[in-house]
Amino acid sequence: MSEKPKLAMYWASSCGGCEIALVNIHEMILDVDAVFDFMFCPCLLDTKIKDIKALEDKAITLTLFNGAIRTTENEEMAHLLRRKSEVLVAFGSCAHEGCIPGLANLHRSEDFLESIYVDNPTIDNPESTYPLPECDMPEGTLSLPEFYDRVSTLAQVTDVDYFIPGCPPEPHQVRAVLQAVMSGEDLPPRGSVLGAGSAIVCEECARVKADKKITRLYRTYEIQPDTEACLLEQGILCMGVATRSGCGAPCLEANMPCTGCYGTPEGSMDQGARMSAALGSIIEVDGKGLSEDELARRFNKILDHIPDYAGLFYKYSMSSSIMKARRK
Ligand code: SF4
Repeated sequence: MSEKPKLAMYWASSCGGCEIALVNIHEMILDVDAVFDFMFCPCLLDTKIKDIKALEDKAITLTLFNGAIRTTENEEMAHLLRRKSEVLVAFGSCAHEGCIPGLANLHRSEDFLESIYVDNPTIDNPESTYPLPECDMPEGTLSLPEFYDRVSTLAQVTDVDYFIPGCPPEPHQVRAVLQAVMSGEDLPPRGSVLGAGSAIVCEECARVKADKKITRLYRTYEIQPDTEACLLEQGILCMGVATRSGCGAPCLEANMPCTGCYGTPEGSMDQGARMSAALGSIIEVDGKGLSEDELARRFNKILDHIPDYAGLFYKYSMSSSIMKARRK
């Protein structure tokens, strides 16, 4: 084995976008290859898990772990890579805050299995057969990982050294972090967020902000937004007010609202609660002389334009939110 520091990248419950984010650093990938021995990445390399198990503890210098923890296999890999890595980074929104897989916490795991294997129009399964956790075959026993009832973040199952937010992390931020690691710069204290800002997306958004008072909400297909003015002030739900900065606001440049992928801003405990508070303070209903009930009715009429409250406000952070999941 070469003497170069070792780099690993692992995907747990994720979409593969974080691997693309690594390749998105373009020619800098050659510098990464020159500095590191890229030894484990199921998406790119055929290293076997037994090879990782055979390593001495802390033999891997840096592991970028993307994906949430949905199955026993995800969790076992989290513990294994924690043991084998000097620095373990929760890379991307799924590992950091649960991201889209975390929205599964609004449902029971049995409901998922039922809709995938039984109530699915493209499945012919008259006897309602489900995959078995174990199955004896002439060649031996086959087993499947257990499907947990709840999706967790990486830090909820093991110690994490650093967090890199984003769905996926932006290339300029991945470059900056890798550059700092490769040049041996002192990293911030353990537990810090790397490759992101400490403000909110609004602060890096170039749109003109005037008076945040709205009297109705629009879904993106209902309005052709002004390209210069704040989208939230135009009634489009933009999560910039409740999202950590660092992405550079590319969605806003494309006239699309921020969906919140850099996650909960510094100093906040709950991205959805922060967005609710922000929205509550800018919705304007002329309440003069109205009863409490009428006021609530008018307010709710505006909120009726939010089709999926949890899917919008907690799209990236359900697993790490104060609620974490729907109570049974
Ligand atoms: Fe920009 Fe959205 Fe913030 Fe408005 S709410 S300033 S559009 S990021």
